[in-house]
Amino acid sequence: MELPGKLFVVAAPSGAGKSTLVKALLQHEPHLAVSVSHTTRAPRGQERDGCEYHFVSVDTFQQMVAAGQFFEHAHVHGNWYGTSRSSVERLLADGKDVVLEIDWQGALQIRELFPAAMLVFILPPSWDELAQRLRGRGEDLPEVIAQRLANARHEVAQAERFDFVIINGSLDRALADLRAVVREQPDALRFAAQRDNHPDVFAALDLA
Ligand code: 5GP
Repeated sequence: MELPGKLFVVAAPSGAGKSTLVKALLQHEPHLAVSVSHTTRAPRGQERDGCEYHFVSVDTFQQMVAAGQFFEHAHVHGNWYGTSRSSVERLLADGKDVVLEIDWQGALQIRELFPAAMLVFILPPSWDELAQRLRGRGEDLPEVIAQRLANARHEVAQAERFDFVIINGSLDRALADLRAVVREQPDALRFAAQRDNHPDVFAALDLA
């Protein structure tokens, strides 16, 4: 399927700093907009319906799946998440290039539908740093954090299937890299080049 604008997909394990990075990206690159997903999980903290997510029941979500209203959907950490066609199409109709902040399963579904989509994976600089960030945000119960850390092992292993890889050690550096990807897709940020340039990080994350 062809789209009138560009489509960027950003995936990462929880705690890698994806939301902060994407928020900063949008401030610097006003031609981009992020699609608001649907989810069956409950709102956290200050989250409001229609802002971070459209919060829906499992029934509503399943009806939307059956009606073909999602470009992709996936079960992530025990809840359903999906990218609605209408959300993406509305942004494209406004002349925006679109960013999807979704999990790796959804990213690979998007690539099947839109081969021109550019898939970006955000890596933490180390497992220790990822664990510290998850504990530090203080939003989740210890058992939820433990589950997310366990899932992160499998999620990080998917990075090789993505076009571009960004290591989020320093926010400034990672943001500069992400901006470079949306502007000019540099070969230096492709998976193989990043692995050659950062062998220690990749080895520590079991991606060597
Ligand atoms: P959280 O509940 O922490 O906001 O998100 C949990 C995970 O679900 C994150 O990896 C997030 O990127 C992913 N996610 C959010 N929206 C979507 C979506 O529409 N589709 C898919 N496949 N994953 C999503």
